[in-house]
Order: sequence, then C-alpha cells, then structure tokens
Amino acid sequence: MNVLIVEDEQHLADGLRFNLEAEGYDAEIAGDGEAALALLLDTKQEYDVVVLDVMLPGKDGFTVAAELRAAGNFVPVLMLTARGRAEDVLRGFESGADDYLPKPFELSVLLARLNALLRRRQWFDQKPASVVTTEKESGTPSADAVAQFTFNGRTIDLANLELHTPEQTIRLTLMEAELLRYLIHHEGKVVSRKAILEEVWNLAEDTDTRAIDNFIVRLRKYLEEDPAKPTHLLTVRGVGYRFVTSNSQ
Ligand code: CA
Repeated sequence: MNVLIVEDEQHLADGLRFNLEAEGYDAEIAGDGEAALALLLDTKQEYDVVVLDVMLPGKDGFTVAAELRAAGNFVPVLMLTARGRAEDVLRGFESGADDYLPKPFELSVLLARLNALLRRRQWFDQKPASVVTTEKESGTPSADAVAQFTFNGRTIDLANLELHTPEQTIRLTLMEAELLRYLIHHEGKVVSRKAILEEVWNLAEDTDTRAIDNFIVRLRKYLEEDPAKPTHLLTVRGVGYRFVTSNSQ
C-alpha cells in the first residue's frame, strides 16, 4: 500500500512516514500542494491513499483536493484539519475529501482511518465488471450484492463509482458511493445522521453532523429533478433522511 503524505512540517511528515513504514506501508512525502499535485497528476505514480494536511504553503489542502477531483483523480483522501474547526471539516468534504482527522491525532486512529478507506477502496475494486441491475420492482435488494441500482432513469453504478443520469455521467467519490450504498440498503426507511456517521464513516465521536447534510446536498444535485424540492432523498426533520425510489412527495 502506497501512501502519499502531504505536509509541509518536515518533522511531522518524517514521523508519519517512519510510523507508516513501520506498519508495512510504503510512504512518500510531498512538502506542499504543488508538489502533491505534480506527483498525483503529472507522474504515473499510483497511490492507494493520500494523507492531506489542510495547512500548506501556497495551495492549501482544500485546493489540492478540489483540483484532484476536477482532474478526474479519485484517490481516497484523508484530510488533516485543525481541531475544533468544524468549518474545515465541511470545506474538506465539499472539496472532495473522503474522511478527516483533527490534529493532533493518535497514530492508531490515523491507521484505523487509513485502513477503513483502503478497505472501501478494495471493496469497490473487487466488484465484478458484469453485474446484475436491480430495479425497484424486483424487491428490496441486498446492498452488498448490488453493484448497480436503477430508479427514475438514473443508474447508480457502485462498481465503477459512477452515476448515470439522462443528461450525464457523474463520477462519485468513494464516500459519495458509500453513502449511496447505505441509503439504497435502507431504502424506504428513516436513517439518522448519527447512524450514517457511525456506519458509513465509522465516526462515533465529536463529528459535526452538518458534514452529512453537505453530502446529501451534493447527492440531491445528482438524484433529484429539482434539488430544492427533493422527492427521493427526503429530509426527516430532527432525525435524518429517507431515500425512496418512487415519487412519493
Ligand atoms: Ca501543515
């Protein structure tokens, strides 16, 4: 497993690389955003996951993540944020990060988050290319068995991290796909923000649940005819969300 560490503070970057290598990872360091983008976009070097600090000289972590996604690079990104800066978390997710960790962090927590991202990555990578399309009429699908899910003219292709609408094909980030998979699995049922945080992000602690709302806003742009008047990804006031495939509202 090849990890790119993007961090300008040399002693932090070196310490992280030392510890990751001790755990059996290959790790490289980029000292600023431009160097990271050059490695990720301009070279053939493949990374399995990127640890991206928000605070960087020049291009910051948000810009790096946004430029990566805009360039069609969907490598899993774990963003390092300043503790207590909820707005950093929201901006991080908005810019395309898959997960975040406030600094300073315990190494064991970082490793757990990296492993969770890598496991998800592998889950998607291992999906077969030819898959069964599940229509709503065929009953409640088992999300683990479903790699494609079609409703209302849209196809969510979890194997290829794509969402096809009548107008376009949208590339999904890992966590967008993971959230969609969770919603499909719980189709028709109310799911709480807390459950989403715990079961999709594996976060039980002090996370700002607005991060979830931010993802829902993005998914609505993909799924809804009118994102301001959702008919599929419904808000359940005070609780969370409900995903329905029929136009029920
Ligand atoms: Ca830094």
